[in-house]
Amino acid sequence: MTTPLDPLMLKEVPADLPVPDSVFEERRQRLRERLDARGLRVLLVTKPVDVFYLTGFRGSAGALLLGPRQSRLWVDPRYTLQAREQSRGVAVIETREALSRALGRWLRKARPRSVGYQDNHATCAELAALRRETGRNRAIRWRPVGPLLDDLRVVKDGWEIERIRQAGRLTVEVFEQVLPLVRPGACEADLAAELEYRMKRAGAEGPAFDTIVASGPRAAWPHARASSRRLGRGELVILDLGAILSGYAADMTRTIYLGVPTGRARRLYDAVAAAQQETVEGLRAGLSGGEADAVARQALARRGLDRYFTHSTGHGVGLEVHERPRLGRGDSTPLAAGAVVTVEPGVYVEGYGGVRIEDTVLVTASGAEVLTPAPKDSWFTG
Ligand code: ZN
Ligand code: ZN
Repeated sequence: MTTPLDPLMLKEVPADLPVPDSVFEERRQRLRERLDARGLRVLLVTKPVDVFYLTGFRGSAGALLLGPRQSRLWVDPRYTLQAREQSRGVAVIETREALSRALGRWLRKARPRSVGYQDNHATCAELAALRRETGRNRAIRWRPVGPLLDDLRVVKDGWEIERIRQAGRLTVEVFEQVLPLVRPGACEADLAAELEYRMKRAGAEGPAFDTIVASGPRAAWPHARASSRRLGRGELVILDLGAILSGYAADMTRTIYLGVPTGRARRLYDAVAAAQQETVEGLRAGLSGGEADAVARQALARRGLDRYFTHSTGHGVGLEVHERPRLGRGDSTPLAAGAVVTVEPGVYVEGYGGVRIEDTVLVTASGAEVLTPAPKDSWFTG
């Protein structure tokens, strides 16, 4: 017999409320100011998350040409209706031929002197096609803009912060629901599937990345996928999860010990927990990513464990799970107020296991706000 699903579990997600047009206009305006500073008037945006950021259109293909006053979005017929409905403040143009051909025709007429393009997204083949389509009469200078859009997206506006906050809350809620199932005998892949299923039923679009459940010696692999392995008593289990909501991700890790922790497990856990807390408490706008990383690294060094910390301390979170800024060795860029980053020190001991604790946090002028406030004190299940 099948049990009908409880319809109340599918919550209405307030994040689906429409974003005011002015938010997109402000973003495009900020971008235009940065383009002006480089002497560029036209930018071709092809990376889908950036097209979404600037227009509200969330299809997986399309080309946005941002001009000094107007912007145009080319889409193929799969996306015409969606683009008309979702995009704000841009003209939608349907094309049944290759985007490079349609764009080329328009650019040959408009004849801008130079056009910026996203060299960290466009392929060599795409650029070659655009050059071919536009190069006939007077050649356009194609200028790579590097991480211009990534940098623009670092500082989140109020709408974005609210979405990440909701994604964080949902992630915490689902983690707390599944925590009682993290027991000896449970299968890693089952736990990951349960977490992802509950995210969707709680109103998320899904997981922002493949959920990590890594137990025993597998917990020593920082990015282990959930496997068919069963959890055993006396093991550490790393759970790394994050929901995605209206395009925005959260990212959180908790480590659980199955049983009464041994001195060794406790020593590793306490060290990582202290390093994570010190780093979050020390975070504020103006601190560089490298300085934040050093706080975590030094906290582990004081306990003789820094050599087991093999990755950087954190990364930006937003429309992408890994975006700018980076909290790592040698990052000298000061963190901006309004940036959302993870703080995730970890230690990994080959053949034994590992501990990682991660929160998504909002950087403010005076400190940081944790957006994934799941408990850390219930880290062992007796
Ligand atoms: Zn994570
Ligand atoms: Zn992360």
